[in-house]
Amino acid sequence: MKKIMSGLLVLLVMANCKTEPKNSNGKLNIVTTTTMITDLVENIGGDKVNIQGLMGSGVDPHLYKASAGDVTKLSNADLIFYGGLHLEGKLVEVFEKMESQNLKTVAVSDALDKSTLIGSEYFASNYDPHIWFDVNNWENITKFVVEKLSMADPENKEFYMENGEQYLKKLENLNTDIKSIIEGLPKEKRVLVTAHDAFSYFGKAYDFEVVGLQGLSTATEAGVQDVQKISAFIIERKIKAIFVESSVPKRTIEALQASVNSKGHHVEIGGTLYSDALGNAGTFEGTYIGMFKYNVKTIVGALQ
Ligand SMILES: [Zn+2]
Repeated sequence: MKKIMSGLLVLLVMANCKTEPKNSNGKLNIVTTTTMITDLVENIGGDKVNIQGLMGSGVDPHLYKASAGDVTKLSNADLIFYGGLHLEGKLVEVFEKMESQNLKTVAVSDALDKSTLIGSEYFASNYDPHIWFDVNNWENITKFVVEKLSMADPENKEFYMENGEQYLKKLENLNTDIKSIIEGLPKEKRVLVTAHDAFSYFGKAYDFEVVGLQGLSTATEAGVQDVQKISAFIIERKIKAIFVESSVPKRTIEALQASVNSKGHHVEIGGTLYSDALGNAGTFEGTYIGMFKYNVKTIVGALQ
């Protein structure tokens, strides 16, 4: 019993140590997973935090496995932000391990009311994790991140709140802009065919019919039957363009295009959309706002 008690005491002391920022310059050490989350936390945390994003541009979060270096980064973090809802399917165990070590992990999907989520049988969470494709969701997640940063680092609360307010205004403008671009596309032309089902929230929010070739997660490959079924749908609906994604290999969409074209209907590849990762850092598409505008312009331009 004595042994258990002293073990417990050591654990408690360790847990207490975690609340102090470990960095020598007093800044919170934050680790994020996808580029969308990294971009958001950078907008709110600014120069008051150290952020390390695990996944770069073009990286598929469904297939991403943690390297030994990642585990070290995660172990040294004061706060870990990830997507949740099994978006990072291969990292679930790593996050559980971090939690058991008393590290603070935050799934940004916890910002959203479950009743607003789109159900999915493809994920162990039973929900579609591509929540960033509705700007309203991202607004709620922004508020949530402000809250979590303020709790972890109360000294800089005002700073995080101010940045959050400013960023929320930008998101509101973004939502207005994309809605006005989409209004220019007649409703019957609003059909989005992509490599994998990342755009259901987008479809719901902005009134598009969405068809993904590969299921919700890129972990499942599209079969010949899927290609045949969707190519028949494209011909029937006279769809002008289909889209590749920056984080998914092109071959499934190219196979679909070949199948449609072999039946005498021409379908274009309308461009590359950013689905589960942003564009290169330092570019317009390397930010959430830039990515969203770019996607909408590409979609509307090609389907017009
Ligand atoms: Zn995805």
